[in-house]
Amino acid sequence: MAITDKIYVKNHRQLASQLEVSFPKSAFSGATLDILFQGDLEKLDDASRERVLDFNQDFLDCTCDSNPYCGHPERKFIAYLLDLRAQGLDPESMVAVMTEDYMLYAYPGDLYSFLDGGVRTLEAVEELAEVEGEKGAARRAGERKRELLQ
Ligand SMILES: [Zn+2]
Repeated sequence: MAITDKIYVKNHRQLASQLEVSFPKSAFSGATLDILFQGDLEKLDDASRERVLDFNQDFLDCTCDSNPYCGHPERKFIAYLLDLRAQGLDPESMVAVMTEDYMLYAYPGDLYSFLDGGVRTLEAVEELAEVEGEKGAARRAGERKRELLQ
């Protein structure tokens, strides 16, 4: 399962009751994106609405015909996670920030596995690039890896 399958909506019950519609807890499931994307957000309290709108603006803003099912929202969210990590945040702090920013949460253990997987991928890329004599690519992979490890 991708890390984006393990991102959840905080206060999920409260939101569902305000919107008078049920939707899954998982933020990136199709039904949740439909509600957050096309739902009647007027029914939400101000603080929640602001965060849902921020989420829409930051992750659902592409112009693909198949939006929000085009894969961009997930990719943008992964870039957001990697960015938090590159700022030096540990998984616990990353969860705190995503809750503050977008009313989302994840389990720190899932973020640890995700980052660990990223480090392994970058290690493989770095080694392969070195073998192939692609110095620039090896250096970039190494830099990204160190960002994740810090
Ligand atoms: Zn798209």
